Amino acid sequence: MLSASVPDDADVEVSVELSSYPGGVMAAGTVSAPWKGECRRCGGPVGGRLAVGVRERFEPGTAAGVTRDDGDAYELGDDVVDLEPLARDALLLELPLAPLCADACRGLCPRCGADLNAGDCSCPADVDPRWSALDQLRSPQGG
Ligand SMILES: [Zn+2]
Ligand SMILES: [Zn+2]
Repeated sequence: MLSASVPDDADVEVSVELSSYPGGVMAAGTVSAPWKGECRRCGGPVGGRLAVGVRERFEPGTAAGVTRDDGDAYELGDDVVDLEPLARDALLLELPLAPLCADACRGLCPRCGADLNAGDCSCPADVDPRWSALDQLRSPQGG
């Protein structure tokens, strides 16, 4: 499951201007929607509102069932511009992959699971040797 998503019943606003060109229709504007997720450190609720600039082409399809590649035009039906796939794609690209409730979120204690944002837990401060070995493994990637 993704750590963040646009709720199914979200109020997605698509505000685009359509302009036709030889061979298709261009949609340019903004897609915005609320999103919800879980903090990657403490698991608490996070959310916000995305606003994504879009500029996409719609052209009559050449064959049914062809998968759309990035950069390809969207399918233009019988002179109907279906903005839903455009909105969905644009929002998916902008969703935070690993949201945080706050940059300074302290997360959960790895031992007792206490929410350290609410205060220190009563676990002893000395470090279990298994954890320090893990820390050494992780340190080259920084943190
Ligand atoms: Zn958090
Ligand atoms: Zn603890």
